[in-house]
Amino acid sequence: MTELLLAARNVTKRFPGVLANDDVSVELRPGRILALLGENGAGKSTLVNVLFGMYRPDGGEIIIKDEVVDLRGPDDAISRGIGMVHQHFQLVPPMRVVENIVLGAEPTKLGLVDLDEARVRVVELSERYGLEVDPDALVEDLPVGMQQRVEILKALYRNADVLILDEPTGVLTPQEADHLLGVLRGLTESGVGIVFITHKLREVLAIADDIVVLRAGRVVGATTPTQATETGLAEMMVGRSVVLRVEKTVAQPGDVVLQVEDLKVDDDRGHLAVDGVNLQVRSGEILGVAGVEGNGQRELVEAITGLRHTSAGEITINGESLTNSSTRQVAQTGVGHIPEDREKHGIVAVYSLAENSVLNRYYRQPFSNRGIMRREVIHEHAEAVVDEFDVRTPNVTVSVSSLSGGNKQKLIVGREFSEDIELLVAAQPTRGIDIGAIEFIHRRIVEQRDNGAAVLLVSAELDEILSLADRIAVLYDGKLMGVLEASLANRESVGLLMAGITG
Ligand code: ADP
Ligand code: MG
Repeated sequence: MTELLLAARNVTKRFPGVLANDDVSVELRPGRILALLGENGAGKSTLVNVLFGMYRPDGGEIIIKDEVVDLRGPDDAISRGIGMVHQHFQLVPPMRVVENIVLGAEPTKLGLVDLDEARVRVVELSERYGLEVDPDALVEDLPVGMQQRVEILKALYRNADVLILDEPTGVLTPQEADHLLGVLRGLTESGVGIVFITHKLREVLAIADDIVVLRAGRVVGATTPTQATETGLAEMMVGRSVVLRVEKTVAQPGDVVLQVEDLKVDDDRGHLAVDGVNLQVRSGEILGVAGVEGNGQRELVEAITGLRHTSAGEITINGESLTNSSTRQVAQTGVGHIPEDREKHGIVAVYSLAENSVLNRYYRQPFSNRGIMRREVIHEHAEAVVDEFDVRTPNVTVSVSSLSGGNKQKLIVGREFSEDIELLVAAQPTRGIDIGAIEFIHRRIVEQRDNGAAVLLVSAELDEILSLADRIAVLYDGKLMGVLEASLANRESVGLLMAGITG
C-alpha cells in the first residue's frame, strides 16, 4: 500500500531576489484532498510546479509513491501518475475535445491513431466521474468551465492518481464550482489524491481533508476544516488579525449619476462584447456588476472611462453625454477609476510615487502653474496620500515599480479618492492583493458611497460583490441578465444569471 502519494520535503526554490519556497514540507495521502492556501505571491504555484517537475528545487526532495524521485520535467511527473490543471489551460483550441485529451498518448491500431477507441475511453471516464463533455466539440467553442473538464479528463486519461489544480474555481460560476468540488470528492473515492490551490476560504473549509497555509514562501500552519475557521485561516495567511466582514449601513440612493443606454462595444478582435446594455447608478449606492470574466465587463468599464470607443448607445454622467470622450474628459467630469490592469492603466512604472500620485491632473492647479509643474506641491500631495491611504514606502521619490501590488493599489485608490468624485468605477479593485489591503480598500469604497458618490463595482469575485453591492447587475455574453436587490440576492440566484439562466 502506498502511504505517501506525493510529498515535498524541505523544498527550497529561489528566483532572482525572491525565496519563493523556503524549507517547505507537505504530504498528500491516497484518497485525500490537500488544500494549499495563501495570499498572492505566497509560493503556492511555485511549490506545485516543483512537484510537477516544471522547476528544479534548489534544496529538499520530492517523494512520489513512497520513493524519492529526481524529476527531469513534467513528462517525468506525468509518467509517474501526476496530473496538473494549470491556472491557464494548455489546450489546443482548434482541435476537438477527444484529440486534446489523447494528445501525446494516442491509442493506435495498425500504426494509425485510433480515435474511435479514444472516444470510447473518454466517454467512459467522463461518465464515471460526472465530467460530461461532447468529445467531438472543438475546444475553442467551449465555455471555460467545459475546457477545465477537458483538462481534468486529460490527466485522468493518463491514469493520474494525483491531480493538482491551481486556482481552479476562479473562472467558474458558483454552481460550476460546487459541481467541480463534487467531482473531486468523487475522484478521491477511487483513491486519487488531490492538491487544490485556492485563496477562497469557504472552498477550503468545504473540500479539504488537510490544509496547509503558506506565507512568504514558508509553511505557517497546517490544520483541518474541523479545527479551522475562516477568520483563523485568514489570520494565518496574513499574519495578523483581520476583519472579513464589510461594515455598511443601508444605502440612501439619490439622483441618477451614471446612465448607460443601449450600449454596444466591440472587443479587441472586433466582436460584440457589450450587447445592448442599459443600467443606472445613483448617487449613494454601489451597483455591483457580477459575471464570469470575459463576459463584457472589461469592455463596459473601458467604454465608460474613455479607454474604448463604443459602437452604439449613450453614456451620460449627471445628464451630460460622455459617449466616446477621452479619459481626461471623463476624469474632469468627476469620475474616479480604479482600473483592472493597474500596471497598464493605473500607474507609470518608471515614474516616482509622487508623479504617479498626480498622474491624471499634474497639468492643472495646484500641481501646475502656467504650464510649470510645482514639485513641492506634488510632493506634499503624495505624502498626504501615502499617509492617509497607508501606502508602505520609504518615501515618495522611489520608483513606483518598487511597491508591492497592494501598495500600488492603495496609491491608485488614494489618488482617485483625493478629489471629490461623482462616480467611482472600480474594476477588480482587490485582485491579487493581500487581505489587509483588501479590507482597507473595501472600507474606503463604502466611505465614498456614504459621501454621496455613485459606485460601479465590477468584480469576478462574487463574494466581493455580495458583501459590497447594494444592487447587483449580472453580465453574461455581453448582455445584462438582470439586476437584483443585494438584500434579496444570494450565491445561487446570482450564479444562475452568471450562467445565462433566467426565469
Ligand atoms: P502564488 O502562487 O502563491 O501566488 P507564486 O509561487 O506564483 O505564488 O510566487 C511566489 C514568489 O515567487 C513571488 O514573489 C513571485 O513573484 C515569484 N516568482 C514566481 N514565479 C517566478 C518566476 N518564474 N520567476 C521569478 N520569480 C517568480
Ligand atoms: Mg499562483
